[in-house]
Amino acid sequence: MIEPDPTYAKAATPVATGGCRRLFSLPENIRMSQYSIEFLKAWPDVQWRERGYLFVVGKDHAEVLESNCRTQESLGVKVELMDRSRIAGKYPWMRTDDLALGVLSPEDGWLDPNSVLQGFRKKAQALGARFMADRVVDVHTEGNAVTGLELASGTRVRANAVINAAGCWAASIAKLAGMELPVNPMRRFEHYVEIAAELPPMPLIKDPERLVIRPEGKGYSVGLVRSDEPRGFNFDVDPAYFESVVWPACASRIPAFEALKLKREWAGLYDECELDGNMILGNWPGRLDNFYVACGFSGHGLMHAPAVGRALAELIVKGRYETIDLSRMGYARVLDNAPYRERGIV
Ligand SMILES: Cc1cc2nc3c(=O)[nH]c(=O)nc-3n(C[C@H](O)[C@H](O)[C@H](O)COP(=O)(O)OP(=O)(O)OC[C@H]3O[C@@H](n4cnc5c(N)ncnc54)[C@H](O)[C@@H]3O)c2cc1C
Repeated sequence: MIEPDPTYAKAATPVATGGCRRLFSLPENIRMSQYSIEFLKAWPDVQWRERGYLFVVGKDHAEVLESNCRTQESLGVKVELMDRSRIAGKYPWMRTDDLALGVLSPEDGWLDPNSVLQGFRKKAQALGARFMADRVVDVHTEGNAVTGLELASGTRVRANAVINAAGCWAASIAKLAGMELPVNPMRRFEHYVEIAAELPPMPLIKDPERLVIRPEGKGYSVGLVRSDEPRGFNFDVDPAYFESVVWPACASRIPAFEALKLKREWAGLYDECELDGNMILGNWPGRLDNFYVACGFSGHGLMHAPAVGRALAELIVKGRYETIDLSRMGYARVLDNAPYRERGIV
């Protein structure tokens, strides 16, 4: 395991919201969530909170939400579809006049991302993995295979298989091996706020503005994704964004958020897959047979990490996926320029 920064100061994982949901449209994403959430729930250290996920939409997205809901149900996900009056009755503190439909998945929830990261690290070390505080600066290839890596310290590591899971940096590492990945860093803010009013326990809520609100400690963790954010390694926090975009969106959805205190905010980077917002997983058959990528998670990489780890292990050791067939998440769709998109809100 080669990691230049063991404090993970710029990594996406420790700054994630920690949301884990089965609310996707693609069967692969739903199955990965099912596998991963069961795995994560069984892990006492990660502070799993099973408080549910609630997606609410206006009439423009109602059809898609309903059709996604049918797919989720067909795969065994527990979901409740709610019309506006049911939403208003269940969450009387939420503004609902602009909503048409909602879906609640009560068995979804959130956890502490840093505990997941540290837990995986410790377990890997306990099982014999060696961690090197170093940076990959070159990838050596011979024919269709990667033979090893060169590190910033000058060390050369020989390898039978290499997994490139370097998040926003994965594309630049792949490029060293001649593989182009459509993955860019996309800044995303997270804000921790406290409000004067006391609201009943709530699920994680995602609304038509792509606003996300979930309880955290005495307050709430909130964020609003902006897909047109300029790409690049920008970790600066823009205080104006909270004031002019996020706060009004919060107050508009839940009036109790009109009186709030912003306690902390930070910026992290999505490893955004520009092709279709989904992960790129696996090798490049025939060209780089033993160089595996796992990146492009576009905001849902934490919740899928256990399934991705399992899938890669199967691919490398057995030469095929066994638990979940993730072939459609492979590099072939990049080469074919054939997006495999989530439908509706993600
Ligand atoms: C604000 C925010 C909120 C999010 N919320 C959620 C959420 O609620 N649920 C969810 O599932 N996902 C969420 N995500 C997405 C999730 O955090 C990521 O998909 C996931 O953490 C990616 O993990 P990773 O290990 O691939 O990348 P990272 O955690 O970014 O790790 C990549 C590592 O590669 C290392 N590296 C860089 N260059 C090199 C090199 N040359 N050689 C070796 N190593 C290198 C870096 O130092 C870094 O530690 C969120 C992301 C952000 C930014």
